[in-house]
Amino acid sequence: MNVQKLKEEAARALGRKDVKYLIGYKKGSYGFRVSPAFIEPKEDIDQLIMSPLCNMSLVKYVMMEETLPGLTEQALKPSKIAIVARGCDSRAINLLIEEKGVPRDRLYIIGVSCQGVIDQRKIEARFPQVTEPAEVTEENGNYIITVQGQSHTVPKEELLAELCTVCRYPTPLIYDKLIGDKLAARPFHYDEIAAFEALPLEERLAYWQQQFSKCVRCYACRNVCPRWYSTICSLDSLSPQWLRRSADTSENFMFQIIRTFHLAGRCIGCGECERVCPMNLPLMKLNRKLEKDAKELFNYESGKDPKAKSLLTTFHTEDPQGFIL
Ligand code: SF4
Ligand code: SF4
Ligand code: SF4
Repeated sequence: MNVQKLKEEAARALGRKDVKYLIGYKKGSYGFRVSPAFIEPKEDIDQLIMSPLCNMSLVKYVMMEETLPGLTEQALKPSKIAIVARGCDSRAINLLIEEKGVPRDRLYIIGVSCQGVIDQRKIEARFPQVTEPAEVTEENGNYIITVQGQSHTVPKEELLAELCTVCRYPTPLIYDKLIGDKLAARPFHYDEIAAFEALPLEERLAYWQQQFSKCVRCYACRNVCPRWYSTICSLDSLSPQWLRRSADTSENFMFQIIRTFHLAGRCIGCGECERVCPMNLPLMKLNRKLEKDAKELFNYESGKDPKAKSLLTTFHTEDPQGFIL
C-alpha cells in the first residue's frame, strides 16, 4: 500500500471547501492495535496509516455523525465527510446510500485496493504481550513484523483474517479516488457453509446451542456493525420488552435470530461483529449462510450496486416460494 499516495489524496480531500474532516486509520496506543483517525487540519495528515493491521471498518462512524439528534440540514454544511474505504467498506457504503442512510453527496470516498488484513487474535497469539506499537508490512506473500526493533517474517496465510480468504471484492465498488491497482472480483466460495448445511439438524442445533450459551449479550456485535445504525432498537426496548435481559441460551437464541434476520440481504461480510465478540462466537458462519442464500435463491449480492433495491423490501413473481405452505 502506497501510504504516501494516500496522504496526498487525503490532503487534496481536506483542501476541498465542502469536506469537513477525514476518517482514516492511525497507530493505536499499544501493540498491534490501530485506531480510527478523525483528521481536520491538514497538518494532522501525517498520522494517517494504511497497513495489514487496519482491520476495522470505519463506516459506522459516518452514521454516528449523521444521526446525532437535532442536526439540521444547515448544521451539516459544509457536509462532506471524507472516508478511507476498503472493498468490504464500499459495499456497506453502497447499502447505506441505497437505504438512504446517508446521501451519496455527503461522502468523499478514498478507496483503497485491499490485499487483506491481519486477524488480531492470530497475531496477538503469535506475539503475546507486545505493548510497544508494532509495525507490519507485506512483501512477497509474507508479513514483515517489526516488534521492539526486531523484524520477523511470517507467511501471510498464517495471519490473514479468515474473511479475507473469501472476499469477493477487494477493490472498492464505489469511490471518488482509488489508491492502488484494481483487483479482479473473486469467485463465490461457500464450501465451508455447504459442509455445515450437510450436517444432521440435531448436530447443527447442538453446535449453535453450545455457541450461543457463551454469549454474554454485550451487544458489541450490534454496536460495531455498519449495517445496524437505527437509533431505536428492539433489543433496548423495555415496553414492549421483546427480549429479556438474562443471557441464557434461549434468550440468546432469540437475540441471534433477531440479529441474523435483520441482516439478511444487508450483511456485507466485513467481519466486524466476529472481530469484536469477546466470546469468540463464529458469527461469520451465520452471516455467510445469509449471503449464500441471498445469492443462490435471489441472485442478490448485498452492497454490490447502490441503485439495487434491497432484498427484503422487494419481490419478483419468479422468486422461490418453497417456504409457503
Ligand atoms: S474482506 Fe476484502 S476488502 Fe475487506 S479487509 Fe478483507 S480483503 Fe480487504
Ligand atoms: S459480541 Fe458476542 S458476546 Fe457480545 S452480544 Fe454479540 S455474540 Fe454475544
Ligand atoms: S453482520 Fe457482521 S459481517 Fe455483517 S455487516 Fe455487520 S459487522 Fe459486518
